[in-house]
Amino acid sequence: MGAVVAGAAAAARITWREARVVELIDETPSARTLVLDVPDWPGHDAGQHLDVRLTAEDGYVAERSYSIASAPEDARVALTIERIDDGEVSPYLAGDVVVGDAFEVRGPIGGHFTWRVGDGGPVLLVAGGSGLVPLMAMLRHRAQARSTVDARLLVSARHVEDLLYREELEALAADPSLSITYTLTRGAPERWKGFTRRVDMDMLQTVGPDAVAMPRAFVCGPTPFVEAVADALVSLGHTAAAIHTERFGPTGS
Ligand SMILES: Cc1cc2nc3c(=O)[nH]c(=O)nc-3n(C[C@H](O)[C@H](O)[C@H](O)COP(=O)(O)OP(=O)(O)OC[C@H]3O[C@@H](n4cnc5c(N)ncnc54)[C@H](O)[C@@H]3O)c2cc1C
Repeated sequence: MGAVVAGAAAAARITWREARVVELIDETPSARTLVLDVPDWPGHDAGQHLDVRLTAEDGYVAERSYSIASAPEDARVALTIERIDDGEVSPYLAGDVVVGDAFEVRGPIGGHFTWRVGDGGPVLLVAGGSGLVPLMAMLRHRAQARSTVDARLLVSARHVEDLLYREELEALAADPSLSITYTLTRGAPERWKGFTRRVDMDMLQTVGPDAVAMPRAFVCGPTPFVEAVADALVSLGHTAAAIHTERFGPTGS
């Protein structure tokens, strides 16, 4: 019986469904959120991703993976896409799509990079660029569940204008059990209070929690960023098993 249920759940995930764009939100000059209506969406855990499939009129097909930005509690599925200028898919999704357009999605996908409030904490979330997307789903889930689990978010971006979800994060930071720290790696505005260098051991130590508190760490971003942060966490005494990583390299890498 259990195998039948598990099989049905797997089949639901691999089914391609039509997603219709119901709202577009410009997040930064190069990133846009697509809010999707996906009939019969099977639900997801914070941290999971889905596959997008675009089919051109001549039958040409392109598929890419995108993390889910919305909380599991939300009725709609949100994606935030960073435009890669010479990319095939992201310039279309982050620039050309209009409300009412439809494309196919398949998911949710991924089981290792997920967090539910019931998993407890503390949690340390470390994002490089658009690697913030699945971590935002975790924070939105945490907020909707009114969880007070100790959560620390460290976001690294090149420039201040590249920071995603700033206003929403500021509002979430009113919660004293959530701390948010930013670092900018290519210059900062005057009176900037955050860090201005790449994530390193000292920065991670300052953000905390200390390894002795045994936080669950979630690290997401470009592959070199994820590897550098995971190595630094191991050097600080965090156990490898507690460090969850998601790499946003090209799909399939
Ligand atoms: C599990 C997973 C989740 C992801 N979630 C998100 C997300 O939430 N938001 C998001 O914007 N992207 C996300 N990505 C990246 C996304 O799948 C695409 O790789 C990205 O949108 C580029 O696709 P493209 O067709 O525009 O570029 P392509 O045509 O595939 O590539 C064009 C050029 O850009 C390089 N490139 C491709 N992807 C990246 C990248 N991510 N960073 C830097 N250079 C790249 C390629 O090597 C190539 O040189 C995720 C990737 C994975 C594997």
